Amino acid sequence: MHPPGWYILFFYTFVNMQIALSNVIKERAKTIGFDACGLAKACLLSHEMTNFDNWLQEGYEGEMEYMHNYRHIRKNPDLLQKGAKTVLVCLSNYYPQQLQAKDLPQIAKYAYGRDYHKVLLKMQKRLLNSIREKVNCEGRIFVDSAPVMERSWAVKAGLGWIGKSGMLISPTVGVHTLISGMVLNIEVDNYDQPMQRSCGKCSRCIDFCPGKAIIEPGVIDANKCLSYLSIEHRGLFPENTSLQNNIFGCDVCIDVCPFNKKTPHQITDFIPPKQRIELNTAEWEKLQEEEFNALFNGTPVKRTKYKGIKRNLKSL
Ligand code: SF4
Ligand code: SF4
Repeated sequence: MHPPGWYILFFYTFVNMQIALSNVIKERAKTIGFDACGLAKACLLSHEMTNFDNWLQEGYEGEMEYMHNYRHIRKNPDLLQKGAKTVLVCLSNYYPQQLQAKDLPQIAKYAYGRDYHKVLLKMQKRLLNSIREKVNCEGRIFVDSAPVMERSWAVKAGLGWIGKSGMLISPTVGVHTLISGMVLNIEVDNYDQPMQRSCGKCSRCIDFCPGKAIIEPGVIDANKCLSYLSIEHRGLFPENTSLQNNIFGCDVCIDVCPFNKKTPHQITDFIPPKQRIELNTAEWEKLQEEEFNALFNGTPVKRTKYKGIKRNLKSL
């Protein structure tokens, strides 16, 4: 006995929807402006959490006390999104269209433009809505703010590997990448697999790190890292600290990486007004708080506050 026509139609429509879903998600991510998108099966990050705990135990997090919070959620995506089945991860290249002159106090490249949390959150919301047009689901978005091990998920989603610098290395997008994504409560037809690649014999990030902060491959002691010191550290610096012309952040370990693509980004919000990236030391010194707030409003540089910038200036 043949199944009825309506059943065949329903069956093939359902199968087709499932087969196409991973491709549809990736296509839509691309249309929205992400440079890469991968899909990982949701699971417990037990091994990654052990490494993270060992890192905390060494005190390598410095004063970033918040790193100790929500460890159970970091480990288990189901606590972020009930019924978690899939972790969708996107990469966004932020390599600037125009670089600061090398002799000026340097701002980390990710901080030239509008705060990426806001920019990428908006893009992720568009992506989630777009997925919901295709399939009924719930998703919890993360943009470097929720307790999520973004780099580990990016590796699981086949987007790259964690280099000796501790950063995600994407052989296609490069190293100046921001990670965002979402935990979904639906399965997809096809999951990506981690890449079988590594840094090999390269050690440029370790050799060039100005703070000698890369203790061993992939392990960073924040207490020595100029990025941490110039942004997260509160109060005065330890004696003899030199930020080596980095007024906010430090890009050395990624700039020297052979996987640095130097391909300019295409995100309008990341383009700064010229004035923001052309300040010389004397102009930074003269800058009043209101001027600083006006010039850097809505950018990551505000995180260190005017007081922090003034402190950093003394240690360039
Ligand atoms: S950000 Fe700078 S100081 Fe920190 S690990 Fe990288 S190169 Fe070293
Ligand atoms: S600089 Fe070399 S060792 Fe460091 S992350 Fe890049 S490829 Fe790996």
